[in-house]
Amino acid sequence: MQKHARVVVIGGGIAGCSTLYHLTQEGWSDVVLLERNDLTSGTTWHSAAQVTNFGMNQTMVGLKTHSINLYKELANDSAHPINYNHADGGIRLANTEQQMQGYRHFASMARGMGVDFEVIDAKECKRRHPLISTENLTGGLWDPLDGDIDPYQLCHSLTRRARKAGAEVYTDTPVTALEQYKDGTWKVITEHGEIDCDIIVNACGYRVNEVGAMMGVHHPVASMEHQYFLTEDIPEIVEAGQRMPLLRCPISDYYCRQDKNGLLIGFYEQNCKTWGMDGIDPNFVNALCPDDLERVTDVLDGAFERMPVLMNAGIRSIING
Ligand SMILES: Cc1cc2nc3c(=O)[nH]c(=O)nc-3n(C[C@H](O)[C@H](O)[C@H](O)COP(=O)(O)OP(=O)(O)OC[C@H]3O[C@@H](n4cnc5c(N)ncnc54)[C@H](O)[C@@H]3O)c2cc1C
Repeated sequence: MQKHARVVVIGGGIAGCSTLYHLTQEGWSDVVLLERNDLTSGTTWHSAAQVTNFGMNQTMVGLKTHSINLYKELANDSAHPINYNHADGGIRLANTEQQMQGYRHFASMARGMGVDFEVIDAKECKRRHPLISTENLTGGLWDPLDGDIDPYQLCHSLTRRARKAGAEVYTDTPVTALEQYKDGTWKVITEHGEIDCDIIVNACGYRVNEVGAMMGVHHPVASMEHQYFLTEDIPEIVEAGQRMPLLRCPISDYYCRQDKNGLLIGFYEQNCKTWGMDGIDPNFVNALCPDDLERVTDVLDGAFERMPVLMNAGIRSIING
């Protein structure tokens, strides 16, 4: 293991891999990533990994546009292509005129940034997503670049490029302690050796406070459980002969996208559950929390009303992470 680096990024999920890549793009080649297990083995491996251009302000839209352009470039890398569905498009639903007005305002702001969105009525939503019912639907906001990416391939693609630009990546290398020198620089102690560095990036996801504690810092963050499920094949999807766009429903708080010939349905829970507040099992790696669909039955009702085909769809698997 090398003995010195300008920056040590701790954590090989999407946050750490992206940070490492972007540092090299800014010309910082003396950078190292340390991952306690494999890349993506925290949360990133099971992410629904949907990539929207929508954001609440110009900064977020700008960041997302940057990601979409980068992911397109990575997907088209002829030597190491990655799976990125970015032609599906997505609809953010509305059932009030007030929401539609908000979407018009947003689309106009995005247009000013050169980013295309379209406000469409309920009939057009149904034409683009044949599985939905237009009952109690006013319309929606169409994001032509909405899609999803393979999060494992994405992290490997980013680190491959970072390595090419001079970065080093060490997996199976847990950081066990951090010591600060008088001049403000750091000693990073791992199970496989030590590295001195100027800057540490803590990208440890749900273990952020374990590594924060090594620096005497408590980050005011809490991990929340988040669930989605995958259905068996749905005949209406096969018959439609087109990929279904993504759906996001701020009314009933769910999202939905095509996965193989079935659907992936996830939930934004209002009554959400914290996780790992009393410490996290060191062996919780590439792991999931127990299923708990009971918690989201009210949200499920909204999704079933919007997509009646779900009534007959079997559940293939549930992911709670
Ligand atoms: C069910 C579900 C669906 C989701 N869907 C979406 C979605 O559609 N779109 C979206 O944008 N986001 C989605 N998310 C959120 C997204 O997946 C997470 O925000 C993201 O993966 C977090 O990445 P991270 O790099 O911060 O953390 P992680 O992926 O957890 O990575 C942290 C890494 O740090 C490593 N680490 C920890 N401690 C140490 C140590 N001491 N030494 C070395 N390494 C260490 C861990 O091993 C881990 O690999 C979803 C999340 C869930 C749970």
